[in-house]
Amino acid sequence: MMQTSKRAVHQHAPMNPFPVEDGELRIGGIPLTRLAARVGQTPFYAYDRGLLTQRVESLRAALPKTLKIHYAMKANPMPALVGHMAALVDGLDVASGGELKIALDGGAKPRDVSFAGPGKSGVDLRRAVAAGILINVESFREVAELSGIREETACAARVAVRVNPDFELRNSGMKMSGGPKPFGVDAERVPELLAAIGRAGLEFEGFHLFAGAQNLKAEAIAEAQQKSYDLALALAASAPAPVRTLNLGGGFGIPYFPGERPLDLAPIAAKLDELSRRMARDFPGAELVIELGRYLVGEAGLYVARIIDRKVSRGQVFLVTDGGLHHHLSASGNFGQVIRKNYPVAIGNRMTSSERETATVVGPLCTPLDLLADRMELARADIGDLVVIHQSGAYGLTASPRAFLGHPDCVEVLV
Ligand SMILES: *Cc1c(COP(=O)(O)O)cnc(C)c1O
Repeated sequence: MMQTSKRAVHQHAPMNPFPVEDGELRIGGIPLTRLAARVGQTPFYAYDRGLLTQRVESLRAALPKTLKIHYAMKANPMPALVGHMAALVDGLDVASGGELKIALDGGAKPRDVSFAGPGKSGVDLRRAVAAGILINVESFREVAELSGIREETACAARVAVRVNPDFELRNSGMKMSGGPKPFGVDAERVPELLAAIGRAGLEFEGFHLFAGAQNLKAEAIAEAQQKSYDLALALAASAPAPVRTLNLGGGFGIPYFPGERPLDLAPIAAKLDELSRRMARDFPGAELVIELGRYLVGEAGLYVARIIDRKVSRGQVFLVTDGGLHHHLSASGNFGQVIRKNYPVAIGNRMTSSERETATVVGPLCTPLDLLADRMELARADIGDLVVIHQSGAYGLTASPRAFLGHPDCVEVLV
């Protein structure tokens, strides 16, 4: 049958980090309906501590022992989750003064916190210097501001240079380097910036390169790591002090859409192994760092909404839920895709039901954009059932337009 073969080709990668028992998903060992009762409301996001821990452990097992793994907090800045991650990883990367506060509250050591972002305000730079964290400088203006802050506060200003390289990360869902970019300083102007850092008396510690995000092609990531390393090595010749840290960024993707497969870590591990050995020669005593957001937390989270209506319009089933794009913008399709694709969606309390149907899942917002699943095969569901969206641990709630249409806000739990 035409439809069967089509489905076989377009299936989602297996989404089974959450076990199923008695037909229900379990999050941190708790059946979904019971967790919903404990939370006291839908919609909500649930993140599983055990899965977060497992993810970091399996990544460490695959990559070189000496490699430092940082968590890029903007993927999910929920304070309890950040606290959990801070104890597992080697450092946190923050992108604002607000994230810096959460990182420090969560127990991160200032030594192991770094701060990147194209528009750091004077206030945030001052907070960063006072905190003693590493600032990835991205402009000549930042160097001048830091020089003033250093003199005024008598605190050391620790800096690394964020380089906008002259190459891109191939196959990247979101390109953050190469060509004209607001991020970092163009590689060709870095020697000049390094001289300014030296004159300003800032503590130079190394380089930061971040080529792009959401990449599922291991070879492309390994290639970007190699090029980043070579560029850093060339730029180090102009540095005012020895390189102590080299942050090669990340960009590790996770599968969301039909046909996508989990990232193969083997080629990346081989490359990082080679680069760690070269580091010992080229930059004795320096640490090699990668920073990951989505890859560490994305698969450990679910978004849960309750079905509040079931409608049939001209033969098509619509499941209307109390949650939607105001909490989960990316699942609705505003994710930079040209053609909208379905996230992995399921009826979380009917995981083993043999009664299936094709249904469209929508939210309560009065806009056709509020679409969570478009004509997907799901267990047959009714009012009161729980729709779950997998792969929701990263860029969920804080990346969504929560005030849009004025519906009730969402809560997050770490289980
Ligand atoms: C957003 C960001 C990250 C995290 O990206 P992911 O795709 O979530 O891994 C890491 N580093 C920098 C500088 C970023 O801006």
